[in-house]
This record gives sequence, C-alpha cells and structure tokens, in this order.
Amino acid sequence: MRLRIHRGAKEIGGTCIEVEAAGKRLVLDVGLPLDAPDEEQETLLPEVPGFREPDSSLLGVMISHAHQDHYGLAAHIRPEVPVWIGEAGHNILKAASVWVPNGHAFSDPQFLADRTPVEIGPFRVTPYLVDHSAFDAYALLVEAEGKRVFYSGDFRAHGRKGALFERLLCSPPPDIDVLLMEGTTLGRTGTAEGFETESDLEERFVEACRRTEGMHFVWTSSQNIDRIVTIFRAAKKSGRLLLIDLYTAVVLEATGRDTSPTHLRC
Ligand SMILES: [Zn+2]
Repeated sequence: MRLRIHRGAKEIGGTCIEVEAAGKRLVLDVGLPLDAPDEEQETLLPEVPGFREPDSSLLGVMISHAHQDHYGLAAHIRPEVPVWIGEAGHNILKAASVWVPNGHAFSDPQFLADRTPVEIGPFRVTPYLVDHSAFDAYALLVEAEGKRVFYSGDFRAHGRKGALFERLLCSPPPDIDVLLMEGTTLGRTGTAEGFETESDLEERFVEACRRTEGMHFVWTSSQNIDRIVTIFRAAKKSGRLLLIDLYTAVVLEATGRDTSPTHLRC
C-alpha cells in the first residue's frame, strides 16, 4: 500500500490523502484550505488522477465528516467519482446547501456506518464514529495488501459523545502500520483541568441565564449540533424559551434524531 498526503500535513484543514494498492486508489477527504480565496477554489483541487479526467483506477472518495476543510473541494471532482459519507452528515449538507455560500450536496453518495466495513476493490474500509463538532464524523481504517492505515479524521473527547473516544481507546483497531492523525489542538494546553466540556458550557449558560434577566442572544454554528443541544438543555434547565431560526431548524431536522431541539414546539 502506498500513501500520498496531498494537503493538510502542515496546515489546519484542507486535508486530502490518496491511498494506492494493487493499482487502484482511494482518496480520504478532499478539503478546502481554511484560507482559500473563493475565486481560486477550483485551482486548489489536488492533482489526483481521476479528479479532473476519467481514470478507472480511482475507486472513490471517502469523506470523514461534513466540514468544509474536509469536503470543500469535492464539488470540483468529476461527478461520476463514487463518494462515501455518513448518512446524517450528507443529509445536513443537503439541507444546508441552499442556505450557505458555496453550499454543496453530493448527488448520490454511499453511506458510511459505524464499524461497518466497506469492500472497495482491494480496499476494506471500516468507519469508526468519533466525537467531533461536526455531526456524524468518522475515523477510517483502511486495509489492503496486508497493511493497515488508521486515519483519525477530526476528533475530540470533550463533546457530548466523548464516550466514543473512550471506546476507541478501550478497543482500538489492532496492528496499525501507519496512523494519520489530525492534531489541530495538539499545541494547545487548555487549563489545569483540561478542556471545557459541553456539560461545563451548559452550566455556564445556565449561570448566565440566572444572572441576567431579559432575552439572551447566542451566536453559534447551527451545524454544531452538540452546541445547539447544550444551549437547548441550558434553556430548559433555566425555564427559558429557546427560539431558533429556520436554518437551524432545518439542519436539526436533517440529523434524523427526534430528540433534537427542533421538535420543541415554540
Ligand atoms: Zn472538522
């Protein structure tokens, strides 16, 4: 198996990794660099055979999660290249695409599911659901020609699904030959107590609601579902009514989870 990191090793985001085995290739993520000017996006598409011209050795692209720095250049790839992404992640992208600048939805993707292997030519890819601010995010185990590569994608341990990180530590994929790990916050130390969790934030929101009368405004990403849930829980605990805009409601509905705040009647 051969690996080629096209982008993302020396910057945050813009991730794109090409994996080759037995003359076939898979690409893990095709991210937009965070500092990319809008007008240059197409020129930033990595030089991967099959992206711009037909090449049957390219078997597809796996998208770890629905953040632009991991999928943002995918709109410039030939549309017949197969794409895999989490189903809820795809639904969120699709729902959001009419609302956001440069919105993109894959036309007919195949879906990744937690710890359910996918056989693609010489590759066997097993997604591992991870805790991240993007909903439905996966690490990917790629196996071929007797070798095993584990690509972490973006992950954390202090979100609402931190248990997934503990689960990965307790039962990691064995015998990994190469670990490709995202490390945006490796250089950040946090506080002596570590990073603030979503539960810590929930308490801070509750505290803010107690301290201040009248209406509160919260400015946050609508696609950060964990954060919306944090705000919802804090509002509930404080006896406050949570109002969300239509875009947020559409994104929450796209998660397919009937426990999300969109089912609150306001
Ligand atoms: Zn991300």
